[in-house]
Order: sequence, then C-alpha cells, then structure tokens
Amino acid sequence: MLVIPRKDTNAPRDRAEPRLRDAAAMIARRSRTGGRGIALSERGGSIVIEGQAPSYQEKVEIGWAAAKLGFKGVVNDLSVEGAPEETLSPPLLADSALEGAYYDVVIVGGGVIGSAVARELTRLDLSVALLEKESDVAAHTSSRNDGMVHDGFAAKPGSKKAAYNVRGNRLWEPLCAELGVEFKRPGSLILFGSALSAAAYPVMAERARRNGVDGWEFWSRARVAAEEPNVAGDQHGAFFLPSAGVLSPYKATVALAESAIMNGARVFLDTCVLGMELESGRIARVRTNRGACRAGVVVNAAGNWSDVVAGMAGDRFFSLHQRRGTEAILDADTGRHLRHIMGMPRLVQIKSKTKGGGLVPTVEGNVLVGPTAAEAPGREDYSTRAWELRELEKHVRLNTRLAMGQAITYFAGVRPCTYEEDFVVERSERVPNLVHAAGIQSPGLASAPAIAEDVARMVAEIASGFRAVRPRDGWKARRSAAPEPRRLGPEARNALILGNPAYGRIVCRCEEVSEGEIVDAVRSVLPVSSMDAVKRRTRAGMGRCHGGFCTPRVMEIVARETGSPLWAVTKKGPGSELCVGPTKGARV
Ligand SMILES: Cc1cc2nc3c(=O)[nH]c(=O)nc-3n(C[C@H](O)[C@H](O)[C@H](O)COP(=O)(O)OP(=O)(O)OC[C@H]3O[C@@H](n4cnc5c(N)ncnc54)[C@H](O)[C@@H]3O)c2cc1C
Repeated sequence: MLVIPRKDTNAPRDRAEPRLRDAAAMIARRSRTGGRGIALSERGGSIVIEGQAPSYQEKVEIGWAAAKLGFKGVVNDLSVEGAPEETLSPPLLADSALEGAYYDVVIVGGGVIGSAVARELTRLDLSVALLEKESDVAAHTSSRNDGMVHDGFAAKPGSKKAAYNVRGNRLWEPLCAELGVEFKRPGSLILFGSALSAAAYPVMAERARRNGVDGWEFWSRARVAAEEPNVAGDQHGAFFLPSAGVLSPYKATVALAESAIMNGARVFLDTCVLGMELESGRIARVRTNRGACRAGVVVNAAGNWSDVVAGMAGDRFFSLHQRRGTEAILDADTGRHLRHIMGMPRLVQIKSKTKGGGLVPTVEGNVLVGPTAAEAPGREDYSTRAWELRELEKHVRLNTRLAMGQAITYFAGVRPCTYEEDFVVERSERVPNLVHAAGIQSPGLASAPAIAEDVARMVAEIASGFRAVRPRDGWKARRSAAPEPRRLGPEARNALILGNPAYGRIVCRCEEVSEGEIVDAVRSVLPVSSMDAVKRRTRAGMGRCHGGFCTPRVMEIVARETGSPLWAVTKKGPGSELCVGPTKGARV
C-alpha cells in the first residue's frame, strides 16, 4: 500500500510499484486537497483507492485518471461526505422457493441484459434461472432510458461498447420481429448549427468508419430542411446515421424474459441475491431471500449493483460510479413533428463520455427529450432536479413545433459506469464459473442482443466442463404477443371484441388500453400484479393524465384477477401498497 503523504504534494519515493507511484503523483496533481491521506494498493491487477474525497465529482475524476494507468480495473473506495456507501435492501418476501434447487445457470438481474442472456441461453439444453430483486423485470435502468438502438458512432473505437453496439444494432430488428415488439428505424441526425461544427464532419465520418457503422452520410442544409421540415434555425447540414432505431425498452425486456420462460427458463421475481458461497474457488451456492440454490455457472447482470455482486463472489476487480440522466416525455401527438432522432454535436463529441442527448421520436408517438448526464451518487436515485430539466430546453429548441409545455412527465435513470467507461463482458479471471455482463451503461440497450450472444457462448464453454451442452429441442424463436386492439384496423378489432368483450372496455382513455389487455398482463407467462408492471406491458397510465382516471379501475382489475383485496394492490411490489386499508363500508 502507498499512502499519499499529508503535507507533501509530491508522490512518495518508496519501493512501491511504479504504476502506483504514477497514480499517486496523478492524484496529488488533480485533487483539490493534493490527495493527502489517500491510500493506493494493487489487488489482483486492479488499483484500489481508499480514503476520503472532498466531493463525488472529485472521486469520479480520480477514478477516471486511475483508469488510464493500465491496471486491470479501478476499485474506487473513496468515501465522500454526504454520500454514504449503499447496501442492497432485500425484498420483504421471504420463503424457501429456491432452497436446495440446482440450475446449470443462475443469472443475477432481470434488466435487458439478464433477460436477453436468459433467452439466448434457452437455445441450449441447460436449466436456467433468472433472479430479479424487484417485482418485475425492467424495473431499473432498462425502463429508464431513451429506447434508442444507437447506430454505434458515439462509442470509442476499439471499445467493447463500439463492437457490441454495432452488432446489437443489426440484431435488434429481426429479434423484435421474433418477439412481437415494435421496432422503427428513423435514423439519427447530428445537426451542424454552425460552419465551425460542420467542419467536424470528416472526424466524425472517420470515427463512424472505424466503428463499422452502417450507411452514414453528410446531408446538406437543403436536404436537412427538406427531410426534417420543422428543424429550427439555419442548419449548416447534418451527419446522418440511418441505422439508428427505436423500440420500447421495457416491452422489449419483458418480451425477452417471456420468450425465455416459454423456452424453459425460470424467472424468480422479488428474489435478491444476498451472497455467494465458494467451494474450491468456484461458486457453489447463491444465497437469496428465498433460500439458497446451487449453480453450475453464475452470470452477473446486476446493472448498478454489478460491482457489489462481483464482490459477493470475491471478484470485485472493478467498481461503478453512477451517472444520472434526466428526460422529459412530450405528449403523444408530438412525434408527428419529428421524422428523425436528432441532436447537436458536442464540441468534444470525440472525447465525450455521453452522446449528448437530443430529441427521440418513440415508437408510441411521444418525443423524449434528453437525457442529461450528471455524475451523482445513488444507485437507484431517480429524483429529478430543476437545473437538469432546464438543460433539456436546448434540445426542444431544435424543432419549431416542440415546446417544454408539451411535457407530460419527467423521469431519471442511472447509468452504471466503470471508470474505464466501457462494458465488462468477460469470464471471471478468478472464479471459473462466473461471467460478468457488468457496468452496462449506454449504449447497453442497443448492445443487449450482441452481449447476450457472447455471454451465452462463455457460459456454454464453462458448462461443457461439467455436462454435455446440446441445442434445446423445439426451441421457439417466435413469441406471440398479446393483442393491442388500438393498433388493429376496425374489422380485426371488432372480431377481437366479439371473441372477448373485455377488449372493447376501455380502461385507460389517454392510451386507449382495454380491460382485456390488463387481464393478459396479469395472466401472462410472467405473471405480474403491480401497477408499474401492468403499465410497462399495456401503457395504462402512461398518457397525458398519467393515471389520473384509470388508476382505480386498473387496481380493481388487478385485485379481481389476482384474488387479492383492492387495498393490497401495489405500485411496484410489497411495501408500495397504494392504499392503507379499507375504510368503513368500502368495497374491498
Ligand atoms: C437516462 C438514460 C438513457 C439511456 N438511453 C439509452 C439508449 O437510448 N440506448 C441504449 O442503448 N442505452 C441507453 N441507456 C443505457 C441502458 O439503459 C442500460 O445500458 C441498460 O438498460 C442496462 O441494462 P442492465 O440489464 O445491465 O441493467 P438494469 O436494467 O439496471 O438491470 C439490472 C437488474 O439487476 C437487478 N439486481 C441488482 N442487484 C441484484 C441482486 N443482488 N439480486 C437480484 N437482482 C439484482 C436490478 O434490480 C435490476 O433490475 C440509457 C441509460 C440511461 C440512464
């Protein structure tokens, strides 16, 4: 261990490993406090940074700088006043559903990554269990994003992000066709608002070429005006990336999980992984609030907790910092004013850690404005700030028909970022039956199918060491999605309602969601009972009134279908009941 001395801003001259001395010198230079008292050590090839940082921003900057020194990873354990270390809080549910069970593969985390990996693994004749601590899949980052299937231009050439993004972009469209999920490819325009920014085009084009992005081109100002009639101001052309697409991230995640279940996987909701027991260096048992199960291989797809989960297996060679992104959702009819995804180049786009945000026309017809990017502690802190919302206005000004007054709500998401600002997708070097799909920040949604392919290959390699791994007989690529009457023509809709009148009883007026769709959600192969889960599947409550009218009606249907009292219906699982209890004479 090397401790930066209290009074001396020069790196200490001792016999420490030269890279640690470099790190100490770098921290001493960068830190407001000269890094005094910060201790550095090397563990398993990673640099470990301990002590106190004056602010979260400074902690992150020290981590970024350390990431350039060539260690395997950065374990940044600096504490920051006002940002206490967070611990997992397990769900209230406690039973023994998993006690003593065995699965060839246990996946930790039911975001888009864990769900995509689960589906991919069902192609093989392996027993697969996905454990998710929340009462639904897609409860965290995978439902709090832009739903953009990025083209792959923004990622650093040579990074895992770039490779997985470009391949994922090609995989999503056929995958959505199989899953019965809507996918659109509007393409993305990076607008050049000045001659100076247009001068960056050759550099951008070179980056797109290096990343292998499909079909990009320069658009003149006349072409921009013709193809995007409501674009504001005098644009000096644009960088057009036709491969950029959009989908509903939560519908896609639910569909992946359902497809995995249809092909034999088990999904355990309200199931939090709390620890792992190792035998001869391998993970033998995975401990949860629902008992401990045995696992052949474990996949760490735990999003913002993936460094903590890695630590449970004794393999925390990286650590995460959180980058919050805030978005506004504009009303459902705003999408007709916008034909493409659009944004402005960041002058530092080539070096930037984020794409920079913009306007995204969603598959449902709304426009998403954002996201912002702020380094902020809080793995699940989804609060929004006034200053972040004000930042979004610059994007809205790109289109003459859009205004912040059209916003129907705001939300925030948290990107799980490593200090290297790249994904961790690899077999553990230390634990032979562990695979990490960790630190999957943006463009993780776009990359998910490609990451899943690779993780499934790694799992199969490990599993073939303890059993024969063959393709699963009768694997079904297609998932038949539940009907959405509002998307049908009059005749098909009529026929559907004749067959089941519940499809004709509209519950959510803003989004035209019927009782039949809510019943389908509750009774699906991945049965759910919370209001948020129903909303993710049906859009009930996602419209202009945001559930003002339909919430009590949806609650009644959920209560009826699950056989629970009305007051026990939750927003997002046990502990989030919407009501306190029955009042005198109430119908329960
Ligand atoms: C504002 C914003 C906008 C974005 N926009 C885009 C975009 O347009 N395109 C794009 O490609 N990417 C985008 N991203 C990034 C993308 O959303 C993420 O990369 C992706 O959702 C990460 O998926 P995940 O499955 O790794 O994580 P998550 O969705 O967070 O899933 C991890 C799951 O693991 C569970 N979990 C954690 N610990 C445990 C445990 N101990 N036991 C059981 N379960 C556990 C969590 O509850 C969680 O559900 C955006 C991100 C943000 C924040």
